Parts: sequence; C-alpha cells; structure tokens
Amino acid sequence: MLRWPPHARLSGLKVVVGPPEGLQRLDELAHDLWWSWTPDARALFRSLDYPLWRLTAHNPIRMLDQIGPQALTRAAGDPTWMALFHRVLEQLDTARAARHTWFERTSQAPADKTIAYFSAEFALHQSLPIYAGGLGVLAGDHCKEASDLGVPLVGVGFMYPQGYFHQNVTGDGWQEETYETLRWKETAIEPALTPDGTPCVAAVPLGERTVLAVVWRVRVGRVTLYLLDTNIEENAPWDRDLSARLYGGDRETRLQQEIVLGVGGVRALKALGIQPAVYHLNEGHAAFVALQRIRDLCTQGRTFDAALAEVRRSTVFTTHTPVAAGHDAFPFSMVETHVAGAWGEIGTFKDQFFALANHDSGGGPLFNMTALAMRTAGSINGVSQLHGEVTKQMWQSIWPDTSYEQLPVRSLTNGVHVPTWMSSEIAELLEKHLGSDWLERHDDPAFCDAVMNIPDEELWASRQLLRAFLFNFIRERARVRWTNEAIAAPRIVAAGTMFDHNTLTIGFARRFTAYKRPELIFSDPDRLAAILNARGKGVQILFAGKAHPADDVGKHHLQHIYQHALDRKFGGRIAFVEDYDLHVAHFLVQGCDVWLNTPRKPLEASGTSGMKAAINGTPHLSIGDGWWAEGYTGNNGWVIEGRADANDHGAQDWADAQALYSLIEEQLVPTFYDRDRQGIPHRWLQIVKQSIRSVLPRFSARRMVKEYVRSMYLPAMQEPLAK
Ligand SMILES: *Cc1c(COP(=O)(O)O)cnc(C)c1O
Repeated sequence: MLRWPPHARLSGLKVVVGPPEGLQRLDELAHDLWWSWTPDARALFRSLDYPLWRLTAHNPIRMLDQIGPQALTRAAGDPTWMALFHRVLEQLDTARAARHTWFERTSQAPADKTIAYFSAEFALHQSLPIYAGGLGVLAGDHCKEASDLGVPLVGVGFMYPQGYFHQNVTGDGWQEETYETLRWKETAIEPALTPDGTPCVAAVPLGERTVLAVVWRVRVGRVTLYLLDTNIEENAPWDRDLSARLYGGDRETRLQQEIVLGVGGVRALKALGIQPAVYHLNEGHAAFVALQRIRDLCTQGRTFDAALAEVRRSTVFTTHTPVAAGHDAFPFSMVETHVAGAWGEIGTFKDQFFALANHDSGGGPLFNMTALAMRTAGSINGVSQLHGEVTKQMWQSIWPDTSYEQLPVRSLTNGVHVPTWMSSEIAELLEKHLGSDWLERHDDPAFCDAVMNIPDEELWASRQLLRAFLFNFIRERARVRWTNEAIAAPRIVAAGTMFDHNTLTIGFARRFTAYKRPELIFSDPDRLAAILNARGKGVQILFAGKAHPADDVGKHHLQHIYQHALDRKFGGRIAFVEDYDLHVAHFLVQGCDVWLNTPRKPLEASGTSGMKAAINGTPHLSIGDGWWAEGYTGNNGWVIEGRADANDHGAQDWADAQALYSLIEEQLVPTFYDRDRQGIPHRWLQIVKQSIRSVLPRFSARRMVKEYVRSMYLPAMQEPLAK
C-alpha cells in the first residue's frame, strides 16, 4: 500500500513524488497515535504549518495530505526542526522497543504473555471517532498508559466506519444527529496482517450464516489495537452495516455486534497468531469471548466445567455503571437465534452456557451480558471505591453461596492518562518546579507535594492562558458557523461568544442523561440569575455533551439548557458548546475555572472528566459520588451535599441545588475574586494547587494500570497448579 501523500501521485503521469530527502519516516510517525501524547512529536507537527494544524483539528495525516511541498522542503532544510524530528524518532523507537520498562522491572512475567483488552469503544484521538464517551476514554487511556509502562497489551474493538454521531443543535435546542463516513486515508489505520502476510479476516458464525470481519490495526506506541469491520463485499448488505455505527442500531443489531466482538475478536486474535494469557473485558459488551473460548477448550478435549474454570482463571472483568439500562440484556430466544452457529462441538452444553447469563433484574429472566461476564471472570472490579460496594449489592445474587465479604468484586478506581489530558502549560510548570522526571514519578503522592511550591504568579499566568485558549476556540467556532450557515445572532450568544475573560467560569460537560441531572443548577432560576449577573463578581457556565440518540429524556434536558442559554435573563452567561468530543473536552477541562458534576448518588460509577480538569488546576465542585467520594480531601475542591430523604428525588434535587448555590455564593465567588494588587487570587490558587497535588498521583492512569497489573493481570497469568 502506497501511503505517501496521495496528492503527489499524479494520475496518468506515473510520477510518484516522495517526501523530501530525510523526511521518509514522517508518515510512519503520523500513523502511530503515540505522537498524540508526546510533547515533542506534537510540537514537531504543529511547527510544520501551524494554521493548517489547527484547520485539520490536529490530525497529522490530514495535514500531511494537504500541506504544500514548500513547507516540507523548508522543514527538511531547517536544522532545528530536523534535530527535533530525529529526537522524536528516537523516542518512538524506544517506546516501541519497550525495554527497561516498569512492567519488565516489576512483573518477572515471561515477555510473551499478552493481555487482550476487549472494549466496544476506544477513545484515542478525535481523528478516530470510535467512541461515545467515558467508557471509550477509559479504554483509550488504559492502552496509552499500558504502552508507557511496557505492559504487553493488545486492544480488540470495532472499526465503526460511521463512528458515533456528530451533534448539531437546532435553533430551538433540539439535538440532531449526523453520521459522517470515516475518511480512511486520513486515519491512522492499516490492514492487520496474519503471520503469513495476508490481510486478517475473521469468520463469525451468526445465526445460520457466516459473517466476515476484516481486521484493522492501529498503532498506539508499543500497544496495538485490532478493530473488526464487517463492511466488506463478501457480506450481505445488512451484515455489512452491522459495524457501521457505535450504539446506532436496535437491540438485535446490538446483540449481533456483541457476538462479532466476543466470538469474532477471539477468532481474529487466533488468526493473528496471538495467544493471550489474560482476557480483560471492559464492560459486559464483550462477554461472548467466553463462548468462543469455552468452545476452543472443549475442542482441545476439556470438559465444559474444566474449560469454564480455565476461562475464569484467565478473565478479568470491569463493570462500569450501576444504571440498569447500562447492562445489556436480551430475550433468550433472540440470543438462541443469533448464536445458533457458534456452538460447534459444545451444543450439548447450551443450557449450561445460558445459565451463566441468566439474570432477572425485575421483569423476568433475561440473557444478561454483565451476568455472563461476572460468572465467567475470576476477577471483577467496580471503577471507584464506592462503585465496588454498589456493584456487590447489585449483583450479590450471582453468587448465592458466597457471603458479602467473600464476593469476588473489588474496587479499582479509574484514572486518566496524564500526558494526554494535561495541558503543556501546566506540564511545563511541573517540569520546572518538580523536575524533568516529574512524569515518571507523578504517581507518587509524596513527590507531588512539591506542587505547593509553584509560585502563584506563574500558576495564575498559565490558568489565564488556558482560559484564553478556550474562549478563542469557542469564538472561532461561532465565527465559522456564522460565516458558513448565517446562524442567528442569539445562537451566537448561546455559543459562548459573550463570555468574559475575567469572570469565574464553570464547566459542565458529559453525556446528557437523567441521572446526571444537568438541569439541577436551574432549580431556582432567580437565585441563579443573581449569581451569574452579580456586578464585577459574576459567574458564567459552559455546557457541552451529547444525548444518546434514543434518549429523549436526555435530549429534553439538553433543549432546556439551550433555551436557558438563549434567555436574556441569564445575561449571555450560559453557553452550550456543540459536538462534545475529545477535542472539545481538552479545551474545556483545561480552560474552565471549576468543573461541576451533579449526579444522583450513587449512580455515577466513577466519572473521569473531573480528574482531567483537576490535574489542570480546574478544581472539582461535585456531589460526593463516584471518584469524588474518595478524591475530596477537604481543601482540593468542594462537595455538594444537600440534606434530604434520598428516596424523595424532588426533595433531594432541591436540597442539592440549595447547597450548590450556597457553595458558589459563600465560597467560590469570594475566593476567586479575592485579589492582590497584581490581580492574583492567592487563596484560590491554594485550592488549585491542592487539586493538582492530590488528584495527579491518585487518579492517573499510571496508578490505575499498575494496580490492574499487580492485582488482576499478574495473578491471572499464573499457570494453574494442577490440570
Ligand atoms: C472524559 C470524557 C467523558 C467522560 O466524562 P464523565 O465525567 O466521566 O462523564 C465523556 N466524553 C468525553 C469526550 C470525554 O473526554
């Protein structure tokens, strides 16, 4: 496959223009998402053509496709740029070689052990839109951190050619969804090859037929991601569409996708010559992994029970939500239809297998993917301290003979990939004041105490800059929409263009859904208006987030927020930023002053956007749910806690809203606007520093992945004592 900028291939003339001398590996670099979290690599692309870099939403492949030959020639002749380029290539080779890594030093596991990480979504970069939200971000961050630590991990997921939808909000605030077909040549994917060099295709039995899935490969440093795609000519039209969209289809499509992911994923790994020692199921979507693995083991001569025991020993399962709708469950008859071809030799064990998935969460027994994952995994975790406990309570019936204390469910709290989410402004401060090895050591809480030594002047200058980046981003987006679509003036206001650089800015961005209570802060509109419009000490709030396409309740919440943004009562101080994705998220978590979260406790299993914000010096203002129940230290942010009967939702909402207003009025506003003669808010910056200091070590993906390795992967890698 020829990849060097296709624009250089002049049709008919048979002239193939390569990159200028010395730049041959630039394309290779652009095709390894490792660049996206490596500061030198980012700087390298940025400095090639900064306006084009912004225009192409930081996608180097697209940029290299559009860049003029002069810019490349100029770079090739610039010794400073070339020196940086060579440094980056050296770093890339080191990252891929994975020698002297943390994993090698600590694990003593044989180097050929592989962990296969299955997930329905992966959020690695905005140019690869195969994610919807938090679950995908977690999977993406896990892979990146595994690469950094040298953990031998491969990811298995889907290549959705249409990805997740783009959000467009109409003038009256209704969310419209549009799907864009991926431009393959602008994306860092390549065909995955089998050991004999042919493109990998997995055959997946679905019902009475066989569906083929081609496998794509994404390079993520030392980690490789394998993505299944059913959109090939050999498949029937309806099967080609199976992997078209993430969470786009009906129940039946969803079930078939999950069979392709679990059964097809195991088969694809086998075709690729990979024999995982551990299977990590990120959420129940991939639980059909067990079906294919049990079948394979039975084919090798094991009994069903022995095969199940072996699968359990080597399977790790992470569950992500206490919300019932987040656990896929299907009628047995539907599953029976679609897995009909998947049994092979183990058809006689059908009843035993179905029993593994049987669960009644009210409304009769169903084939429940979470139950299946729980009964086929030896090691299970919830994603925060609190969520671990909630998970035990929810699923205790899975283990009727086990006491609560003995349940095989632990808590392993989420974390965020620091090089991905931390702004270079804050990273530079850490480098200067904690030392050039700060990234290596950032998961050591004692080491991070030195954050308190950062001078207020420097920290405030960075915070001001990050806020300016955010507002510039918002204005530029609004300007483009005004230019291209002539949207009405009120909508330009609602996009945040009147936001003021010196006003306390609160961010609220996440999926729009009922349990996250996005409208909580509007419970008393008059009190809120008074807070927002206070002269000289006002507040402004930025909202962003998508509602699931089928979630009309979520869409109504979004519409109400949008209407508030249009309402002059709030003085242009409410804004909605459309099409929340990784790119938007970066600007928001880094540029806001405060990060707000108001879920109905205990339904937020973890939440990770607040961690991203906190490590950038954007403290958390949240209900004490999810990660914040263990993250709040008393001086690194604020806990919203209205006292009311939690079973009375109306009363709880009202009490929480009152508590929220009081915190803003009595604590946030006075602290933020308390300035010295240079305009520096010293008391505020104490909270900012405590936020970075306390959250950076404890809620980083580094701490998280190390914990998965120590407490779940390595034990699962131990060979059984007796067969
Ligand atoms: C981090 C992130 C999320 C998850 O945010 P929560 O706080 O966990 O709800 C969702 N979407 C995007 C784009 C993100 O970056």
